[in-house]
Amino acid sequence: MSGTIDDEGKQITIRRLSSRPTREVRVEQTASQRRIELGPVPTPRKIRIARRVRLPRRITAELLLQPIVIHTPVDGQVFEASEMEVVGQANPGTHLALVNERYRAETRSSSEGKFTFSDVRLSIGANTIMVLDLDHLTWEQARASIRVVRQEQLAPFLGHKDPLTNAPLAEGEPVVRCSICWTYCYLSSWRANGNCSICCMRGLTPRHWTSDDDEFYMTREELNRR
Ligand SMILES: [Zn+2]
Repeated sequence: MSGTIDDEGKQITIRRLSSRPTREVRVEQTASQRRIELGPVPTPRKIRIARRVRLPRRITAELLLQPIVIHTPVDGQVFEASEMEVVGQANPGTHLALVNERYRAETRSSSEGKFTFSDVRLSIGANTIMVLDLDHLTWEQARASIRVVRQEQLAPFLGHKDPLTNAPLAEGEPVVRCSICWTYCYLSSWRANGNCSICCMRGLTPRHWTSDDDEFYMTREELNRR
């Protein structure tokens, strides 16, 4: 995006620029390539030039926009978890969106330009994560994307037996995991018993995790450490 500035003595007016406030404006003379750096300015519409500068009738102006950079994760990183955190740098105080297919989240960058999207949901396989600056959507540098891969995890319940029916747990039928005693069982057994058939004897009323939960895949050691 660029605009036209007409010399109006000590004050110049930029036209056809975004009406949103910006931090810096670079004024560039098309004829001589001489550049005048101005900033910070509260609005791009009117800029007062402190010292006398000879301006031509028409010069072009361009808003300086920092490109969005995604620091973590790195491009091509492989995950097993269903969610991850995306951290990066953008223009300070801008309205940002993160898009991963049908998943969408929004945040605002800090006064230093830092941003964090927590609990970004991943699909199995390749995910293209895009971060967009909603305040400057038409700008080329207002978007960044990375590709990460979520690996399908091996069934963690193989080798275990259903505590109600004593049948070996196998893939195909839905399996759930008790959130209190961490025992795997068939969902049909959980429903038949109305509860976990191990720890409900102690009067507990647990809920169960499914294969969509990270806890479903964690070892007992990992769950103990939490
Ligand atoms: Zn239980």
